[in-house]
Amino acid sequence: MFLLESHLSAGPFHFKLAAHDGRARAGIFHTPHGDLLTPVFAPVGTQGTVKGVTPAQLSELGASLVLANTYHLYLRPGEKRVSDMGGLHRFMGWQGPILTDSGGFQVFSLADMRKVDEEGATFKSHIDGSLHRITPTKAIQIQEDLGADIIMTFDECAPPYDRSYTESALRRTQAWAESCLSAHTRTDQALFGIVQGGVFPDLRERAAKWISALGFPGYAIGGLSVGETKHEMNSMLEVVNSILPEDCPRYLMGVGSPEDLVNAIGLGVDIFDCVLPTRLARHQEAMTLTGRLKLMNAIFANDPRPIDESCTCYTCQTFTRTYLRHLIIAREMLAGTLLSIHNLFTLIRLTGMARQAVIEGRFSDFALRFKESYT
Ligand SMILES: [Zn+2]
Repeated sequence: MFLLESHLSAGPFHFKLAAHDGRARAGIFHTPHGDLLTPVFAPVGTQGTVKGVTPAQLSELGASLVLANTYHLYLRPGEKRVSDMGGLHRFMGWQGPILTDSGGFQVFSLADMRKVDEEGATFKSHIDGSLHRITPTKAIQIQEDLGADIIMTFDECAPPYDRSYTESALRRTQAWAESCLSAHTRTDQALFGIVQGGVFPDLRERAAKWISALGFPGYAIGGLSVGETKHEMNSMLEVVNSILPEDCPRYLMGVGSPEDLVNAIGLGVDIFDCVLPTRLARHQEAMTLTGRLKLMNAIFANDPRPIDESCTCYTCQTFTRTYLRHLIIAREMLAGTLLSIHNLFTLIRLTGMARQAVIEGRFSDFALRFKESYT
């Protein structure tokens, strides 16, 4: 471990790297709505709400950064309406830092409902079939109206194994990154560039070099956790993180299983988001640092223990497995809320433990112990 005073000024944004342990990093990212202690996990609030959890509960469980989806908020209620209501922080009642994606991932997930050209993407709304067009300039305008602290360039997430398509998508993503930079006007928002390139090391290398040269205050790594193997994901992270500037935060988009978090932190990633904890909660599954529990299972019918005896979240401090299983069977909405609180707390706790291990110079030991006990 060593201390490194790295500074990058971008208006009110400032990333300070406090410690290294191998490639793992611990840092502080200052934003206009508060500091992020990295590595950090961001709960996902797709529609401007983390499903089933109030902002007060999010604060209590230790969330610092929340993600909202540009595509969804653009379609409903519309970015102008959010802006009229005072911006996203005021609208959703979350005063901490917010990150919005560019909408690219959702648009490109629409498959046969969208058409891509060199200037942008035209697509049909999944809500009412109406026709829409997002260009890099439009993606920035929407995100400026929404008003998150961290915003993303418009990128194309290509199928990871199709090399020729990935190459053409990469050309568009690079051109779009430049358009996004010129369109971006708000100095109270940090615009992150995105590295794509599928599972191809040379394309990832090219993308990372190219995007780094544009001098963004932070970088996202996209197009991973979309069907590739763990080995492929790790190889891509190794290539990309050896190129991205040390003094900027690195955000691995859409990754959030405990084992992937620990792996990626070990490879130098600082920021994560994923729907997994709240999605699993709605499917009656609890995440723990040793594996998952399906609470519907009959073995929990008469079990006085909390989900995780080592957990200090509100759910574990208050309720038994028997009670939670009862709520699930009785189809009570509180079940989803209590499980979401616990699952989110588990990932936030895990990133906090990893951060402490980096600061104390024992990250590899921490990661090894985690992997040995996680099933
Ligand atoms: Zn808990």
